[in-house]
Amino acid sequence: MDAEQLREYGHKMVDFIADYYKTIENFPVLSQVQPGYLRNLLPDSAPNQPDSFQLVLDDIQAKILPGVTHWQSPNYFAYYPSNSSVAGFLGEMLSAGLNIVGFSWITSPAATELEMIVLDWLAKMLKLPEDFLSAGTHLGFLFYKILIYNATVGQGGGVIQGTASEAVLVVLLAARDNVLRRVGKNALEKLVVYASDQTHSSMQKACQIAGIHPENCRLLKANSSTNYALSPELLSETISHDLTIGLIPFFLCATVGTTSSTAVDPLLSLGKIAKSYEMWFHVDAAYAGSACVCPEFRHYMDGVEEADSFNMNAHKWFLTNFDCSALWVKDRCALVQALSTNPEYLKNKCYIRNHIELAKHFENLVVQDPRFEVVTPRIFSLVCFRLLPPNDEDDGNKLNHDLLDAINSTGNVFISHTVLSGKYVLRFAVGAPLTEEKHVNAAWKLSYHISNEEKQTNKK
Ligand code: PLP
Repeated sequence: MDAEQLREYGHKMVDFIADYYKTIENFPVLSQVQPGYLRNLLPDSAPNQPDSFQLVLDDIQAKILPGVTHWQSPNYFAYYPSNSSVAGFLGEMLSAGLNIVGFSWITSPAATELEMIVLDWLAKMLKLPEDFLSAGTHLGFLFYKILIYNATVGQGGGVIQGTASEAVLVVLLAARDNVLRRVGKNALEKLVVYASDQTHSSMQKACQIAGIHPENCRLLKANSSTNYALSPELLSETISHDLTIGLIPFFLCATVGTTSSTAVDPLLSLGKIAKSYEMWFHVDAAYAGSACVCPEFRHYMDGVEEADSFNMNAHKWFLTNFDCSALWVKDRCALVQALSTNPEYLKNKCYIRNHIELAKHFENLVVQDPRFEVVTPRIFSLVCFRLLPPNDEDDGNKLNHDLLDAINSTGNVFISHTVLSGKYVLRFAVGAPLTEEKHVNAAWKLSYHISNEEKQTNKK
């Protein structure tokens, strides 16, 4: 697709969406189709020929829209809101159009840095304690959406997760690894998680993934006597009991705005209990966090200063497209330690350049020996080189073939070959993660010695 096609179709698509908004109230809010409805309306296999753009839009109107539940409809009152806005939609368009890939800082520095800055803004709007901000730290890299800065000030920061379910999983893993470092790896079976039975089911799922024993995920009864909030007394009693039977309490999840009824757990008292037992305290404000930017609702978050992590969903009630869940932690090192993988192939800054430097070094060694030629200009980390033939009658192909065989048969290095314009050429490609200059030097030394021997043999 070229830019002009994008302009033409893009305008049509925007018109289509704008018309959808104009007529949104004409649709049944909850889709009325039956399961499997779409299979009968679409061909069995992908079309071999392209359809016109208008035909595609007609298909969407006739076949897809009836199967859409209209979350944007003003008549939508189910679950929790999960809404977009003109700003959210245009932002998505920009991100998709520029094809932003942000899995590490270098893959799009602006993406990482904007993420950090905007999460600091949002943290300030929510009046989160300063410990949750990343401002003042020196930027390092962001690997797989986990912040790893070289911090000089502050240990906290925000990071965007897909969903609140991912957020609770990520902090649970960090908390689990923290406590296991303290009490020993074999204690996994003894670790206990606490929350009310009103907590979103994603917490239980996170426990399953994290390997917490199913009986050690304590969902404490919350009833109408506390407006479905978790009772600090019940929590204290349960923890005391668990300690007496040798279990290890390590994680507490409180909710501001539970899924069933928007109950608000008493963060301050719960947080103090968590602290006294050295437990990780997570606050899930997936839905209600949005409201807390309004000063009159902020008090529902009072006590968040006791938390180790806090989460709210911008994709719920904050006019941002699904999925965008904001997670803040006070100690980002805990996340990094638990989840950073830091594979070689992502260390592109020094990794790639280092290989290119090593190839350059090998190229210099070749160039300094007048018996050799560098056949093509080296651009990256591949050096194409060969021994020059002894005279114009000889194409040098056998000479170089024998040289390569002799080098490889030592088993000390492995070099491959190619043929360029009829010339048999050796290929020295630097790229192994463990290659250092000494390996390059040794490879050259070997090539040098063997080429001397080849020369002697050829002379005879
Ligand atoms: N926590 C609460 C309080 C929720 O209400 C929800 C969803 O409604 C979630 C977590 C899960 O959110 P997500 O779909 O972003 O994982």
